[in-house]
Amino acid sequence: ADPLVSVEGLSVDFATPRGTIHALRDISLEVPKGKVLGLVGESGCGKSTLAYSMIGLLAENARVAGGAIRMGGQDLAHLKPKAWRDLRGTRIAMIFQDPMTSLNPVTTIGKQMIDIQYREPISRSEKRARAIEFLEQVQLPDAAAKLDVYPHQLSGGMRQRVCIAMALLTRPDLLIADEPTTALDATLELQIVTLLRELQETFGCSVLFVSHHLGTVAELCDEVAVMYAGEVVERGHVREVFHAPRHPYTQALFDCDPARIRQATRQLPTIPGTLPDLRQPPAGCAFRARCSKAFGRCAAEHPPLHAAGPGQVARCHLNDPAEDVA
Ligand code: SF4
Ligand code: MG
Repeated sequence: ADPLVSVEGLSVDFATPRGTIHALRDISLEVPKGKVLGLVGESGCGKSTLAYSMIGLLAENARVAGGAIRMGGQDLAHLKPKAWRDLRGTRIAMIFQDPMTSLNPVTTIGKQMIDIQYREPISRSEKRARAIEFLEQVQLPDAAAKLDVYPHQLSGGMRQRVCIAMALLTRPDLLIADEPTTALDATLELQIVTLLRELQETFGCSVLFVSHHLGTVAELCDEVAVMYAGEVVERGHVREVFHAPRHPYTQALFDCDPARIRQATRQLPTIPGTLPDLRQPPAGCAFRARCSKAFGRCAAEHPPLHAAGPGQVARCHLNDPAEDVA
């Protein structure tokens, strides 16, 4: 499919008192138009940093050290704050893990929805009608009455539904969701994921879905990018990557048993060993210290993304056609 967003060789550093952390290194991926891309990996792998860089919300101490994020002729990685004010919340919207990140506790739901900046001029009464329509879209019971309530009067699941309605109000081209169901129990999580899938199909927007939960990614996403230590180590169609993972990290996550993914625990499986120090990323493969398949080349030679199947790539020497491994 045609990409909506192309991330091209993106690198992001964080300046900290203990040194520069190379949090994203040479990230390349595409968010396809009208599809859902899942982003998975352990905490600290850089998936949230990548998500935040696509909506211009990187922390103060972050610096784009290289690359670009292309969308509609613009480079989001180097956009001025003024340009972000026109894009954020209109063409690109975000839902967060904690709904209260985007809700104002002292303002009614209705006022917050009516105050949203639209791409086109629209009257107050139209805004009100649209707010009700979108609260119905996210299946909030008694939608019109919800305009008068404050966030604390709603349950966690309902608050997240309100956030989804608010994010979609302006019909964004890209919706970014950073672990939006992590704070919910399993039943609510399934409801929200089903809702997101339905809304994505209704509105035809692209979604970047950041998640720890492989079962959710299998349910919701068309494509997936697996991150490890600030790099993309594997990407491709969900079906292919989940059934035939080609990077030892992805294989370890799935425990080589695709049948178990749907009922997988809500946390990623723990793989023994520790992440490399991202102040000094290792010269060879970043996964080497934890890889049961490491061999000679892995210590010195940094693996590129090798073609690993139709539309699938993996950053591992074992996928190098020159490597004669059975
Ligand atoms: Fe393991 Fe080597 Fe492949 Fe890295 S390149 S994942 S260390 S086999
Ligand atoms: Mg995160």
